[in-house]
Amino acid sequence: MNYQAVLEQVAADIAPHIGAGRPAEYIPALAEVDPASFGMAVADLDGRVHGVGDWERPFSTQSITKVFALALALARGGDELWQRVGREPSGNPFNSLVQLEYENGIPRNPFINAGALVVTDRLQTLTGDASSEVLDFLRAESGNPDLAFDQKVAASEAAHGDRNAALAHFMADYGNMRNPVPTVLEHYFWQCSIAMSCRDLALAGRFLARHGLRADGSRLLTRSEAKQVNAVMLTCGTYDAAGDFAYRVGLPGKSGVGGGIVAVIPGQCALCVWSPGLDARGNSVAGVAALDRFTTLTGLSVF
Ligand code: GLU
Repeated sequence: MNYQAVLEQVAADIAPHIGAGRPAEYIPALAEVDPASFGMAVADLDGRVHGVGDWERPFSTQSITKVFALALALARGGDELWQRVGREPSGNPFNSLVQLEYENGIPRNPFINAGALVVTDRLQTLTGDASSEVLDFLRAESGNPDLAFDQKVAASEAAHGDRNAALAHFMADYGNMRNPVPTVLEHYFWQCSIAMSCRDLALAGRFLARHGLRADGSRLLTRSEAKQVNAVMLTCGTYDAAGDFAYRVGLPGKSGVGGGIVAVIPGQCALCVWSPGLDARGNSVAGVAALDRFTTLTGLSVF
């Protein structure tokens, strides 16, 4: 497969979508990004990376990091996590409180904010430093030792984090937090603030295309666990538009409000696309269009 040629074709075809939608504004530091940015990268199983547009420019990963936190929590602590968080699509916005009340403080899945807070809490218990665990993993898999937390984004998010604080306190009341809420929130905000490029993220997502094998050849997840993480990405990874994403793109994918989306073709490659303009559900407009075009042009999908 000539990925470079495909990426160039994709970029040309979706150019009219770039700039559509609106960058996230509820975290003020995210609203400062140029809405005309677009980048896309593919990392193959051997770690060769191809890219187009702004594929080497760092952006705010936000919820994309939830995939890596989940993988690490499963790798370090196994199945016990699933007693505290479900794995069904929520059908609700990612920061919604309502479902948590009638489901007794057990979030629907690890990719809505409530579920991700439980994962962070679990990783904190298992490692003593959840956000550094995620950052170290991302540095190792991307081969980029310069990856860092973005202090400005983390501070901006903490200053406007009342909704996440409400979710965490609510779950604590139901007995679904093991660490102090301020500690969990701090690690969650740090984790979301990590800045990475499409290149970095495509490389970091490669372990999911390699059925759980890390860049150095060691195993993070069993083949079965890698399948499970990919399955949760497919059903829950793109907010309450996961059905439409599966219909259009046909791949496990995880988006973030920074405008990035990571997608996986098991046994083939990992992809990352970034463009900050979001649709009403929180997914990058040009990003979804580009992945849609990629799977249409190549015929590669999980279906
Ligand atoms: N840090 C963001 C929040 O908690 C992540 C949201 C997202 O990317 O979905 O609101």
